[in-house]
Amino acid sequence: MTAKSRELPTCPECWESPLVPVIYGMATSELGEAADRGEVILGGCEVVYRGKVVGCAACDTMGFLRRGRFIPVYSGE
Ligand SMILES: [Zn+2]
Repeated sequence: MTAKSRELPTCPECWESPLVPVIYGMATSELGEAADRGEVILGGCEVVYRGKVVGCAACDTMGFLRRGRFIPVYSGE
C-alpha cells in the first residue's frame, strides 16, 4: 500500500516539507514507523480537534484542511 497518489500541500509556514495527516488515538508500531518516515504526525491519545488535521513535521505548524486549503490552528490563544 503506497500513499503516492495522496497529494498534500506544502507547509505554508516554512515551505520545507509537505503537510501530513495528524493521527490521534492509540499509536500502533506501524504508525510509529510512518511517523519516523515523516508520513504522519502522531497527535497523541486525546482527540483535540474534530475534522481532518494536518501538520508540518519541520516547524510544528498544525491546521485543518478544508477543500484543499490549509487553515492554521494557533494553540495557546
Ligand atoms: Zn512547516
